[in-house]
Amino acid sequence: MYYCENCHIASEEPRCPACGGRKLREPQNRDFCFLREMPVEEGEWLRERLREKGVDCVVQPLGDGLRSLLALPTKDCRVFVPWGGYAAAQEVLQEQADAETEFLREQLLRGADRLYLSARLEKKLRKTDPFRAAESVAAYCRRCIEGAGQITDEGRVTNCPRGGHYFRCLAEGFVFLVNSETMELLSVTPIRRG
Ligand SMILES: [Zn+2]
Repeated sequence: MYYCENCHIASEEPRCPACGGRKLREPQNRDFCFLREMPVEEGEWLRERLREKGVDCVVQPLGDGLRSLLALPTKDCRVFVPWGGYAAAQEVLQEQADAETEFLREQLLRGADRLYLSARLEKKLRKTDPFRAAESVAAYCRRCIEGAGQITDEGRVTNCPRGGHYFRCLAEGFVFLVNSETMELLSVTPIRRG
């Protein structure tokens, strides 16, 4: 691993992904490394979990000029942990993501029978693999979603009168976006790599 002292980023590449710097060195256990950007409440939650594991953690609120000017709580933060606790922190995040996936999957499974998609989306998918060969596009998508490796809640669908949320499901190399209340499949896009 490499470490950029300017950006506090640990990287597998000999070049810093943030500043492009090439003067990187091996990370030391006490080097604070950028972990992730997340909502402040999640940052505080993570700080507690890490404290239980004896790992320090720095939660830096992200500059939102107006909100800080008005002394309002900021919404997002950057989390840094010492290199010595980096793997433990990744593990906590992974466990949390897995727990969220299972929680959301249960919700989706309750409505899975109602999953539908517009004729327009179906027509579009019919032209591409692997949907081309499927007997029913909706049934194929339903199976993908039921077995999705990761499901995240991406917040409220703004114009949905039933208060549905965007559920983002990663499966079979695609991102399936579903309205959690109406169970409409809104889009299917290939997962972008890198
Ligand atoms: Zn850098």
